[in-house]
Parts: sequence; C-alpha cells; structure tokens
Amino acid sequence: MAGVHEARTGGSGASNGRRSSRRRPRRVLMFPLPFQGHINPMLQLGDVLHARGLAVTVLHTRLNALDAARRHPEFQFVPVLDGVPAHVAASGNVIDIIEAMNAAMEADGAAALRAVLESVVADEARPPAACIIFDANLLAVPRAAEAVGLRTLVLRTASAACLGCFLAYPMLHQKGYLPPQESKLYMPVKELPPLRVRDLFYSSWSNHKKMRELLARANEAMKNSSGLVINTLDALEKAELNRLCEELHIPVVLAPGPLHKLSSKCTRSSTPDQDYSCIEWLDKQPSESVLYVSFGSLASLDAKDFLEVAWGLANSGHPFLWVVRADSVRGFLDGPDIPNGFEAAVRGRGKVIRWAPQQEVLAHPAVGGFWTHSGWNSTLESISDGVPMICRPQFADQMMNTRYVVNTWGVGLELEGELERGKIEKAVRKLMKDRQGEEMRERAKELKKNVADCLKAGGTSQVAIDKLVDYILSM
Ligand code: UDP
Repeated sequence: MAGVHEARTGGSGASNGRRSSRRRPRRVLMFPLPFQGHINPMLQLGDVLHARGLAVTVLHTRLNALDAARRHPEFQFVPVLDGVPAHVAASGNVIDIIEAMNAAMEADGAAALRAVLESVVADEARPPAACIIFDANLLAVPRAAEAVGLRTLVLRTASAACLGCFLAYPMLHQKGYLPPQESKLYMPVKELPPLRVRDLFYSSWSNHKKMRELLARANEAMKNSSGLVINTLDALEKAELNRLCEELHIPVVLAPGPLHKLSSKCTRSSTPDQDYSCIEWLDKQPSESVLYVSFGSLASLDAKDFLEVAWGLANSGHPFLWVVRADSVRGFLDGPDIPNGFEAAVRGRGKVIRWAPQQEVLAHPAVGGFWTHSGWNSTLESISDGVPMICRPQFADQMMNTRYVVNTWGVGLELEGELERGKIEKAVRKLMKDRQGEEMRERAKELKKNVADCLKAGGTSQVAIDKLVDYILSM
C-alpha cells in the first residue's frame, strides 16, 4: 500500500479490522534528539497524533531545552538529565554531544532514564502509555523502555535515502567507497543510485570510529523496534522506501511526510526569537522576486566566506532575505560584523535577520528561491511550497539531499567549490532570472502539487498516519 511499506516478514502488525473495538484513550511518549532539525518533526508528529485523539508526553533534555512547552500546553513535558558537559555542548560537535549524552543516559543500565519512564508510565491521571517514539540516536531508550514494558517506534527525521546509506555503511567501507578518496569523488555508488561517492554521509572532521559505532547501534535500535516512521513521502522517495522495506524486517515502515504540512498547529519551529518583521517586509515585495537565504540551525561559515556571501548577494541586484544567526560565522559568538557599505548597497531590497519563521517565509508569494544548506527539513519545506533552490551543502546528509534536488527532482542547482562573490552573483541570477531557473520553478510547482496530493484524504501520507494511529491503538 502506498505510504505504508510492509516489511517482508512481519505482516502489518496493525489492528486491521479491530479499530473500533480497541479504541480507548491512549498516550504516546516521544523523545527527540535535542537539535532543531530533529525536535521540529517530532513535535509535528506529536501534533498530528494529538489531533487524532492521542495524549502526548514529550521527554526533553536540558541541552537545547524546548521552548515548545509554552506553545504546546496540550502536551506534557518531562525533563531528562542529559549529562552533557558545558564545554562539549559549546563545541558544537554533534557526534561528541550525542556521545556524551548517550554515555550519561546509559550509565548504570540506563537507571536514571528508566526511573523517569517508570514515573511517566505510572501516572494514572493520564491515559495509559502505548509506546515511545524516539530518535534512534538516543541509545539508552530501548533498554529503559523494555525495562518498563514499553514498545518502541523510531522516527527518522532525515530522508529514506539517508537511512539507506546508514544501513549500507559497513558495505561502503568494505568496498572502499568510504572514506572518500579525492580521485573517486564523482564515481557512482552503484548499490545506492543516484548517489556518487561525494554524496555519501561522511564528515571529515568527526571521529570516524565513533560515528560508525553510533550508526551501527542506532541501526540496531531501529531494527529491534516495533516500527519505523520516516519524515518523507512516496512522491519523493518511493524507490528508496521500497529498497528499505526489502532490507528491514520490522513490522511497519510508514512515510507520512512532510510532517510540517500534516500538523495543523505547529507551523513554527521550537526556537524563540523568530523575527516576524520579515513577513511585513515580504508583503511589500513583488511576487517571486525574493531569494531567501538560510543555512539552518547548525551550519556555519568562516569570516572570508561570509564576506563573499554578503557581496555576492549585494552585487546580484536581487531582493533577498538573509538569516544570519548569532553563531553563523566561526569565531564570532554574538553575530558577525556586517561589512562597511553593505547596508547602503542593499537598502530597500535586502533584509538581514537572526532567525526566520522559515515555513511562513517559504510559503510567502514574494519568495521565488531559497539558497539553502540542504538540511532535510529545509529541503522538504522548500519542495512543499514549490520553491526552487540553490544548494550549498556542508556536511552530514546535506550532500545527498543536494544530489536529489539537482539530479532526481530537478528543482535546484548546486553552488560548488570555493565561495566567491562573482560565482554567487551568477548562481542567484541563474535561479531568479534565467530560463533555467524558470524551468526549475515550474518543476518545483509540479512537485508541490504531488506533495499536496499525498497530504489529501486518501493520499499516501494520510493513509500512513491512519495506519500509525491504528497501530498505536492496537498496542
Ligand atoms: N529554521 C527556522 N528558521 C531559520 C532557520 C531554520 O525556523 O531561520 C528551521 C527550518 O524551518 C527547519 C530547521 O530549522 O525546520 C532546520 O532543519 P534542517 O534539517 O533544514 O537543518 P539543520 O538545522 O538540522 O542543519
């Protein structure tokens, strides 16, 4: 069934036919990895499940503590000690942060997390807990959940292609695709089309042994879970989803994405300080004239590249809305200095803000293009609103998302190599003005329609959510 991918062995595991007799109030526990790109889709899934009658309890760490509690009074929020030392948190190294968190949470047989789960599950004032939906990188969860008799479901917040790459990690090393060699960067990985070596998940600055261990254990946690939910959809990744189901032997694999469009409530990310003045500014700009520029919540530039971006945007002559976070430029903790003469050069057509209400921005009729770092959430958000992209990937799954945007879906171009103002200017013109950009925009609008079809009643994403709710109620 579309959107619902049955693994080869387990059958559906869902309640087929038992739906009405089994309906009683139930509760879902959720535990996202505490990074923006992971928290948002988890809370969006929570919104969708809550709208279908399930109670929701969200576990959260002190690290990147959720502001969401204020905006989700209908959820229960429960803190969990993460044990990440301040200097590790400040390092910004995601693998080190996850490792520290896992070490603390797995200590003493995950005793502290088990105690939290015990008290949450024992709370008789709330509906009985059916399961915990968690991020597979939180390695302490399966053991703690098992100890209190809770079944686990995994939410993957990246693409199906990315998960395919994770599952293939040992093979990619055995066959010599990884670590990537300079001379083989453009070689196709025939086991994972359309990826080439340079598109594979790899980070030259992470400790590789640690990363491989984390991936292997996260894969194991997923394989031993009662089901997998991926924030993607058939309209984008049908072949990749089918490949996963060939490989995985877990009861259900569900693709109800893009979750931000299914959730009626949570259109905003969980970060405070969104600058809504940009919406008023966009209201004054001509239709499809503005390039929105944002590199997500983690990616950063060095000071030299920051200058090139600033002058590339200024020299392009196009209106732009640019997100410059306080930590956007390495070496500056409270925001970089805007270069002399920049403000005068872009007055009236350029706006710089600290954090955007990105989903509202991408849905705004004045936005005609998105220069992105190609994080999966940003990619999904752009596609869902029919906005073509300039892709400038840096790490993790960003390279492979770019490959799909450029090569498979044809809705963007990649800005490769050294960042240089003349090149940036050309790329902006190509996307915003040239025939080639216009064609990408047309394809992006078509893809937007396909996404909308998946989200309609009877569409693959809605069917996947129905199935998930039935499955949870059958537990
Ligand atoms: N985001 C936002 N405002 C911004 C920049 C980003 O709301 O100014 C949100 C964006 O909508 C997305 C998330 O932050 O949901 C970033 O996730 P993504 O997977 O694209 O990248 P990451 O930050 O994980 O690298």
